[in-house]
Amino acid sequence: MNALLDIPLKDWKERLSNGGDVPLYRVRQLSHWIFRKGVLDWDQMTNLPKDLRDRWSSEWILSLPVVDTLRVSSDGTRKIVFRLGDGARIESVIIPREDRATLCVSSQVGCGIGCRFCRTAEMGLVRNLSAGEVVGQVMKANQLLSADPIRDGSPAAKERPELSRINHIVFMGMGEPLANFDTLIQSLDLLTATDGIGLSPRRITVSTSGLAGRIRDLGESGIPVNLAISLSAPTDALREQLMPINLHHPIRAILDACRSYPLKNRQRITFEYVLLGGVNDGLSEARSLAKLLAPFRSKVNLIPFNPFGESPFRRPLHEDVLRFQSVLLERGVAATLRKTRGEDILGACGQLALENRSNNPEEDSAWKPVAFSMPV
Ligand code: SAH
Ligand code: SF4
Repeated sequence: MNALLDIPLKDWKERLSNGGDVPLYRVRQLSHWIFRKGVLDWDQMTNLPKDLRDRWSSEWILSLPVVDTLRVSSDGTRKIVFRLGDGARIESVIIPREDRATLCVSSQVGCGIGCRFCRTAEMGLVRNLSAGEVVGQVMKANQLLSADPIRDGSPAAKERPELSRINHIVFMGMGEPLANFDTLIQSLDLLTATDGIGLSPRRITVSTSGLAGRIRDLGESGIPVNLAISLSAPTDALREQLMPINLHHPIRAILDACRSYPLKNRQRITFEYVLLGGVNDGLSEARSLAKLLAPFRSKVNLIPFNPFGESPFRRPLHEDVLRFQSVLLERGVAATLRKTRGEDILGACGQLALENRSNNPEEDSAWKPVAFSMPV
């Protein structure tokens, strides 16, 4: 049996009619149950004829990733570790902020890009996720939010109805989304289609280590999502050391691809810059970065390095972070330094190496409280 959520929406009519004659409005009723109401139990889809439901349920798997662990930070950030059908595990993070409920989703199990400062890189690439597994993270997060709504302050405080559903998505969890391109496009379609989850593409951000050709392809896909580039160095010489992908996609090639990326009114490209103490957080890097990005409609997201395990890097000094930011601002380049989120959980996107984790959280440094910062 195939997973229904892995079928592109445009093929549902054909695949679900299975040679027979199922009217389009029946398929629409089904997608409405699944994506709008979040109902995946065939028995609850009462406006669909019983024989049709029986046939579909015998032909299709309709399920979501299973929650393996859920950790809630005192600031409301929730980290979910999901177990997939084959036992593989991935993570998503729900980040509430003002009127936003952002979900950070994974696109692969592990990652094959090998950035030196990233914990996921240590796993290597285990496998790509399917579109159903990407969208399933969002649907499951919505179920969790409706069962346990985000509230103002203490648990007894008032619920915040505007946060009862995920309303922003960032592809900043495990994996390189542009290295799993077909899945990315298929899941963006499911997330944005009116027959799907129906989110505006402007509320979705795809973050990439900079696969230049794929950045162009994404631009040409016609889905106007926000683009975030993980730059983290202003020169090829430095970037090659931190992100070996730079040998194949040097900065010039990435920026050329960014120039061709269609931007709507007031839309800007985000450049993420992981600040590594004493490595890329100096005055000269800040000045070079400002020069490089000045011609772009851009905003820089400064992310202080989040240390883990045996990593050779260290967190930057706070004064160096502020100096870096002010050099960019003085030169007219927008730069934000996000408040760290999830102080009391290990919640960083791009931070997990689940396979290496021991079963006892006490024994594993990965589960000691650390902070992470997220552009949301
Ligand atoms: N693969 C994509 C998206 C996932 S990584 C990409 O690289 O863009 C999401 C973000 O986390 C990236 O900007 C990455 O540079 C950052 N990141 C990775 N490891 C980090 C760490 N140890 N501390 C802080 N940010 C980190
Ligand atoms: Fe992969 Fe992104 Fe981590 Fe680099 S930073 S190894 S691209 S997940």
